[in-house]
Formats: sequence, C-alpha cells, structure tokens
Amino acid sequence: MNHALLNIVGSSNIITDPSLMTDYSHDETSVEQYASYPDVVVFPENSEQISAILKYANEHLIPVTPRGGGTGLSGGAIPVKGGIVLSLEKMNRIIEIDEANMTVTVEAGVITNDINKAVAQHGLYFAGYPMSLQSCFIGGNIAENAGGGKAIKYGVTGRYVLGLEVVLPTGEIINLGGKLVKDVAGYDLKSLIVGSEGTLGVVSTVTLKLLPIPKATAVLSALFEDVAAAIAAVPKIMINTGIIPTGLEYMDRQSVEASCSFLDEKLPVKESEAMLLIELDGSDEDRLEDEYPKIGDVCEENGAFEVFVADNAATRERIWKVRRSIPEALRTSHPEQSAEDIVVPISCIPRMIPFLKGIEKKYDTDIPCFGHAGDGNLHLHLMKNKEHSQEEWIALQKAALDEIYGFVTELGGSITGEHGIGLKRKKYFSEHLSQPELTLMKKIKQAFDPNNIMNPGKIFD
Ligand SMILES: Cc1cc2nc3c(=O)[nH]c(=O)nc-3n(C[C@H](O)[C@H](O)[C@H](O)COP(=O)(O)OP(=O)(O)OC[C@H]3O[C@@H](n4cnc5c(N)ncnc54)[C@H](O)[C@@H]3O)c2cc1C
Repeated sequence: MNHALLNIVGSSNIITDPSLMTDYSHDETSVEQYASYPDVVVFPENSEQISAILKYANEHLIPVTPRGGGTGLSGGAIPVKGGIVLSLEKMNRIIEIDEANMTVTVEAGVITNDINKAVAQHGLYFAGYPMSLQSCFIGGNIAENAGGGKAIKYGVTGRYVLGLEVVLPTGEIINLGGKLVKDVAGYDLKSLIVGSEGTLGVVSTVTLKLLPIPKATAVLSALFEDVAAAIAAVPKIMINTGIIPTGLEYMDRQSVEASCSFLDEKLPVKESEAMLLIELDGSDEDRLEDEYPKIGDVCEENGAFEVFVADNAATRERIWKVRRSIPEALRTSHPEQSAEDIVVPISCIPRMIPFLKGIEKKYDTDIPCFGHAGDGNLHLHLMKNKEHSQEEWIALQKAALDEIYGFVTELGGSITGEHGIGLKRKKYFSEHLSQPELTLMKKIKQAFDPNNIMNPGKIFD
C-alpha cells in the first residue's frame, strides 16, 4: 500500500512511521478514550491526487479518514479502522476572490480565519464563526456544518456554501453548484455533502458566499447573580426588543473563571454567577447606539445587575477570546470529561439550566455550561471529580447522559447542534432517530460509498 501511495503523493507527502502519527490519532475529544492510529498518513496537494488515493483505496478496500484541522469534538477525524488518514493541510490555497459575485473559492485545507483575513481588504466578510476558527479548516467546517458564535443572525456554514468540488470514494471528481445563489435542478447533493462528516466523499474545493463587512459592531456583557435568570433572559432579549443579535452567548461562572485563569485575563465579572455576551452589528453606528440600550434594559429587567458595552475592537476581542477559550481551558483543568453539545428549541432553553443543576446534584459532578444560547445550543462538560473511581466515572457518564439526552428529546431537541455524531455519539444517534430515517441514511451512504471505505465506523455502523 505504502509504495502505491508514495507513487501518488511523493515521499515528502507521506508518513509511514507510527511514532510520527500521534497528532493524527485523535482530534479534540478526550485523547485516551478514543485515540486510534492509522497505517499511513498522506498529504495530497491537489484533487487529482485525492482521486488516485481513493481509487486505490476503493480497489483494495482500505479505510480512508479525511482530516482537516483536527479540532473536531466528536472523534470524526479519528481513523478507528486504521488505513489511510487523508490530511488536507497542504491544500490551503485561496484560489479566487470574486468581488463582483461576492464569492471566494478556496481549497478545503484553508484555515477558516484565513478566509476573512484574505477577503477583508475587498470589504468582504465570511460569516462563519466557529470558536475554533484559528485552527479549524473550511473543509472540516463543511463536513460538520459548523455553527458558532454568529449563527443566530447569520446561520451555519451550509448557508454560505455555493459550490463544492468533491472527490467520491470511487475516485470520480464532481462539481456541485458554483457561484449561483439559486439552483433547484434536481436533488440538492451539495447540501447532502454539507454535514456528512467525511463519510460520503472528500471536499477538495469550496466556493463561499461573502457579505459586506458590517460598518458598526458592539458587544454587551450582562452579568447575572442567578444562572437560571440569565438563561431565561435569552429568548426575551429577542422577543421584547424585536432585535436579532449577531451573537448571544451564555457562560456560567465556572466556565468564565476557567477561561480567564487559562488566559491570565481579568474581566470585570464581579460576583456574577452567569454572563451573557451579546453582539450586535449593522450598517450604521447610530442605529446600533439606539439598539444596545434596549437590549441592556431587557437584561436588567430580567435580573442582570450590570451591563457593560464594549464598542472598541480591542475590548470586544478580549471578551470573545474568553468565550472562545472556554473548551480548551476546561480540558486543561479537567482532562477527564465528556463535552456535550445539546440543542433545544429556543423557547425551551430556560428549562435546561434548572434541569442540569438537578443532574449535577444527583450524580455529584460539576457540569460547567456555556454556549450559543441564542440558538438553543448549549455546551455542557460533565467533569470527573477526584473522588470518582474510573468505574464510577464511566457509570456516571452513561446514566447522566441517558437522562440529559432523554430530557432534550422530550423538549424536541437534538443530541448535537454543531459538533456532529462522529464516534462519540454513535450509540445515541441510532436511539435518537426513527428506523425509516436511519434506513434511508444507510442507503444514501451505500449509494455514495458501496465498499464502505469513507470514514468507516462513524455516525452509524
Ligand atoms: C476550542 C474549540 C471550539 C470550537 N467551537 C466550535 C463552534 O463554535 N462551532 C462548531 O460548530 N464547532 C466548534 N468546534 C468543533 C470543531 O472546531 C468543528 O467541528 C470544525 O468544523 C472541525 O473542523 P476541522 O477542520 O478541525 O475538522 P476535523 O476535526 O479534522 O474533522 C472533522 C470531520 O470532518 C471530516 N473532514 C474534514 N475535512 C474534510 C474534507 N475536506 N472533506 C470531507 N470530510 C472532511 C473529518 O473526517 C471528520 O469527520 C470547536 C472545537 C474546539 C476545539
């Protein structure tokens, strides 16, 4: 196998020594629990090489796991069945910025934040804003249909995907969509690839819709003594003001403290138990100055004891950085944990925090909680305490997750809002879906990938 792959990608684009493969044996889910090594890692430089690799793998029934930045939180990029890890990191070219059509075309291995750096000088802006944007790749964002901190106003990644070049598991290269804003010719295969977690094909090139850079931005941080009051204020902020913020993030005290200590940052959070980060943007400063006091008032009427406004870029970035760094900070302070990503209808979000407080007490565990509350999407990290033995911890996770997912389903929610099923949630996915849905999904998988070589062992068996 290695000889054939070496002939395709060249000796500088292949790793065959297992001692150099550690980085490719895991993503950002808990390393010990899920890590698995591939037989070989390859770094194709173009779509033709991807095609040749997949043709070879398909012929010899070798598993292939596509890999972006490896920031995934569901084990999607872990090569559980060994075989080939196909890393997109060398396909990181910005191919075209098309001002007239407001699009950018890039290779799948471009770091998400680099897209905005490249298009900013043209007055344009890509609205995707996953909190990992400085290290994840756009191909990974498409494979996970990533959300993030601005999805409440701008939607998730898929909304901006106009065109995709995809290499199928059988080696054919197909082009889906292009620069069209509208296109209803036949089944929407492009949308099927978005969120398919690397199980249907390899995304090689992407054309994204861009927006004009907003002229004005402000960030409010609202401090609450009561966590339930903070989360209950979330839907009211939108309903009572009629304003849809760009971001509406919730962070409890434990999450903020962990992140501030990790960053050596001091936010003026006083005695607050919870904080809301609310970002507004728009086409003019005056309108924003009219909007943010209205939002501040609703926060205060609903329990905020203080509201700060950050209207300069440096302070805004300080607050967002604290929010973005929470997952890493919590993983550093508690390496053994289970990071969850539940989502419920926005109207049900006030019921989640009291429920989670009950779970914390019942199972004697800490569950720091933060996330994109404006979308109904919360990240909860179940923590292993020092007192828990390994057996207790495993039993606790299972029992607590059964209850949490059960409650989320009862509320009409889902077990993942943006991190995907991957390996981590496979067991729960089959329980969450109806049998006809599952059967249909398996038939789709078989139509794309008859030999089951693309990222096997993910989503479902
Ligand atoms: C600190 C932190 C913050 C995060 N914040 C957010 C957030 O706000 N919103 C959010 O949605 N997620 C978030 N995530 C999760 C993660 O960053 C996203 O899921 C991201 O989209 C993964 O991109 P990646 O390039 O790292 O993909 P990887 O982890 O490398 O891969 C993820 C999946 O995509 C597949 N894949 C990767 N590239 C391709 C390709 N070119 N073609 C086909 N399949 C491919 C892989 O096989 C795998 O199944 C966060 C993660 C961290 C660590």
